[in-house]
Amino acid sequence: MISPTSLPDSHGHFGAFGGMFVPETLMYALRELAAEYERAKVDPAFHAELNRLLKEYVGRPTPLYHAERWSEILGGARIYLKREDLLHTGAHKINNALGQILLAMRLGKKRIIAETGAGQHGVATATVAARFGCDCVIYMGAEDMRRQALNVARMRFLGAEVRAVTAGQATLKEAVNEAMRDWVTNVRSTHYILGSALGSHPFPMIVRDFHRIIGVEAREQIIAREGRLPDHLVACVGGGSNAIGLFHTFLEDASVKMTGVEAGGEGISEGKHAARFQGGKLGVLQGTKTMLLADRDGQIQLTHSVSAGLDYAAVGPEHAYYMSEGRIQYTYATDAEALDAFQTLARIEGIIPALETAHGLAEVKKLAPTLSKDQIIIANLSGRGDKDVAEAARHIFKEDLKF
Ligand SMILES: *Cc1c(COP(=O)(O)O)cnc(C)c1O
Repeated sequence: MISPTSLPDSHGHFGAFGGMFVPETLMYALRELAAEYERAKVDPAFHAELNRLLKEYVGRPTPLYHAERWSEILGGARIYLKREDLLHTGAHKINNALGQILLAMRLGKKRIIAETGAGQHGVATATVAARFGCDCVIYMGAEDMRRQALNVARMRFLGAEVRAVTAGQATLKEAVNEAMRDWVTNVRSTHYILGSALGSHPFPMIVRDFHRIIGVEAREQIIAREGRLPDHLVACVGGGSNAIGLFHTFLEDASVKMTGVEAGGEGISEGKHAARFQGGKLGVLQGTKTMLLADRDGQIQLTHSVSAGLDYAAVGPEHAYYMSEGRIQYTYATDAEALDAFQTLARIEGIIPALETAHGLAEVKKLAPTLSKDQIIIANLSGRGDKDVAEAARHIFKEDLKF
């Protein structure tokens, strides 16, 4: 395994994965972004402002919470939850949105665009755009706009224009295409805040680095609390940003096992899922070479998940690398298992998690009883479930709530 701190290489490769598969017109903007990021990384003023806003505006550090009741009921490992759900706007996504808008300011770009699926990244981006006085356009599939009306309204209140994308399945993949098209056209004035550890270099690296704080804090917190490293880390994997954020600082600690949890949808054999590591193949999608769900002709397959934030055909290239090296294990949770974990955490710990997060919790539920009471699991509580209340009610209470 190549040392995690030296990845990606200067062309954005994580072993056989990653890279820059974009039209020539975007190469300049991507190189400019990568160069500015390298300057920012060694600029103490950049870190001072980022850290101040993370603390005062975003709400860091987040607590590491010992879920005592749930641990006792499962009868195995001690379970800790890293509370990213308590951040401003309700999920980890703002860590990255804030870091990237500071880069956009350094580049002198005052127009911000982004794609969004469930709307969490759109809300995080609209929030930081408002905070920095930028124009903001969010591309969102028309189908997702219907499913996530609450987040659409939040983005509009924040002053963003939400543009409906009606092509294809009218979900996240199509929204990314439109955002890329906008960026090509307006690249001089515009920064594209990509929302997960995906896409062309340097995005997977930049997004990872802005989320790395999750693991850095968790490491300090568990050592202060338990005097040692955890035995197991668990996180859900859409593009993979919250998972790599928690995992990255622990990758060279051989004793720390890690599990990423993908969306198993209605089951792998049914073909209605978004579990790229279950029968996916190597391919190129939207700027990067990675594991993705495609048919025999290479056509991208339709995906399904109860959680819009995990419903995407490709996984971040860095995850594909650690999977190929055997450093991180990947499994999946079905819609039904996630809905069950969603209810469990609400009732046992008084925390309503996002449906994405609930996929990771479903794995904790399976894993904890197989470990002994002196072992420690840290699960990333990537977001809160407010946005998912209507969807969960439809499945659990069989009721259509109107918000
Ligand atoms: C967007 C989202 C995810 C999935 O994205 P990753 O990049 O894989 O982290 C997971 N949890 C929540 C709460 C989200 O909003």
